[in-house]
Amino acid sequence: MPLTIKTRRSRLLVTVLSGLLPIGLGFAILCLQAQRALEQSTRVTAEEAIRQFDLMLDNTAHAARELLPLAGQSCEAVKLALREQVTRRPFVRSTNLVWEDNLYCSSLFGEHQEKVNADDYNQGTLWLMNGNPVTPDTALLVYRLNQGKQGALTTLDGYHLANVLRLIGRNTVLLLRVGPHWLSADGKVHQGDSPALPVAENQRASQRYGYWVTAGFPEGETWRYMRSHYPSLFSLLIFFGAVSALIAQSVQKRTSSPSHELQRALDAEEFVPYFQPVVHGISKQWSGAEVLMRWNHPKEGLVRPDLFIPFAEHSGLIVPMTRSLMQQTAQLLGPLSPAFKEPFHIGINITASHCQSLALVEDCRTFLGAFAPGSIHLVLELTERQLIEPTAMTLQLFEQLHQLGVMIALDDFGTGHSSLVYLRQFNVDFLKIDQSFVAMIGADALSRHILDSVIELSAKLDLGIVAEGVETTEQSEYLSAHGVNFLQGYLFGRPMPGADFIYALTHH
Ligand code: C2E
Ligand code: CA
Ligand code: CA
Repeated sequence: MPLTIKTRRSRLLVTVLSGLLPIGLGFAILCLQAQRALEQSTRVTAEEAIRQFDLMLDNTAHAARELLPLAGQSCEAVKLALREQVTRRPFVRSTNLVWEDNLYCSSLFGEHQEKVNADDYNQGTLWLMNGNPVTPDTALLVYRLNQGKQGALTTLDGYHLANVLRLIGRNTVLLLRVGPHWLSADGKVHQGDSPALPVAENQRASQRYGYWVTAGFPEGETWRYMRSHYPSLFSLLIFFGAVSALIAQSVQKRTSSPSHELQRALDAEEFVPYFQPVVHGISKQWSGAEVLMRWNHPKEGLVRPDLFIPFAEHSGLIVPMTRSLMQQTAQLLGPLSPAFKEPFHIGINITASHCQSLALVEDCRTFLGAFAPGSIHLVLELTERQLIEPTAMTLQLFEQLHQLGVMIALDDFGTGHSSLVYLRQFNVDFLKIDQSFVAMIGADALSRHILDSVIELSAKLDLGIVAEGVETTEQSEYLSAHGVNFLQGYLFGRPMPGADFIYALTHH
């Protein structure tokens, strides 16, 4: 069907997709935006943590630098100096002196003996330990400074480090890594791989000391961030989705509506005239033709009029469509008209709505103007199924048509309810007996009786009679014998395109 091309399901699909598209796109943009915000946050957090750790290590390094020249002196002589650094410097928990890789003096124990292994220290300077004999299971960061046989070790309490991880990190997971060991915000020292941080992971090394910091978020953080930061944008996205779906629906409705499709076809000149000959009842000579509309649809091919004429009538487009058909007919047949020996009948189907204004008179005048004077009879075929109201306007219209020499045929006669008064009021010239009656010829006696009554009635009204749908010689002979003036049907010719009709007409 040319006028129901889009199914409901495909329309619904387009509507749903149009609604989902802005929501999906908006969601993707918000996702990217959230990821970017989280990456920015981890970068800033890692940088801040490094700044804090560097500051703490500056203190321990300073203490070590001050003590290093004392290495080698007796523990008794330097003990106080070691303790002084512990009290004076923030973050420094203990200080120790080393001679030839041997820790021999400590601020905690005084004289002490312990081997120092440089390999324990990352880049020879930092060792993250999980406590010492005094405070086992408590993180401790040892800073080592060495020069020849002299060495100084200063320690930083893991408590301060964990505090930084906890306070700066807050929503971010922050880890401090020194060589193979790493410290988490709970103050525990671990060995080996640190846990993966799938969202916005950022690793940053200190430029001055041998450690680095990892910041990031666990799985699902992007979604959590979006939910807490963009709730109003979500509502806006849903609103846009709904608006977009509504627009898509209304555009589809408009573009797939029958009247839109018919208007498109009219602009593309897809409505073309076909011609079916009408012959004399006795001589069987071609005395005229009925113009029948066809829709030359680009996809569906040639479309029968009963599939689109009702829509055209409903939308009011039937008037310009008929006008176009009349113009095309005049263009095709007008040039041949000087050769017509007798007035050739040209039947045009007209709907009741076309009779609502005097414009029809102008259409007919223009049409007749394209033919040699007196060479044709323009016959307007009005169906008995839609009778025209006898108003002042319509009576004036038919009066003017009559003056112009236009004839009126009552189409599908016998299927409606026209009366004698009606036929007189509108100056009807021909009755076209509906093909359903013609089909009764050769059938049972009752059917034939109905047909005979219709023919009899037509004769009594003193009007020209045309029989439609004549398909057999039996029907043709029967109708001629009963005084039917004109015959139309497949027996004499099917509706054909303009070129074929002109060829047949000129060779007839
Ligand atoms: P209609 O005015 O009664 O036209 C006669 C219909 O009978 C045509 O169908 C024609 O092809 C068909 N026909 C002719 N001879 C035979 C036959 O021997 N056997 C059979 N079975 N059918 C035959 P078509 O062309 O399909 O048109 C159908 C209807 O569409 C027309 O009925 C008419 O009411 C309407 N129509 C066609 N063109 C126009 C038009 O330009 N304007 C308007 N308003 N209606 C039109
Ligand atoms: Ca007709
Ligand atoms: Ca008819």
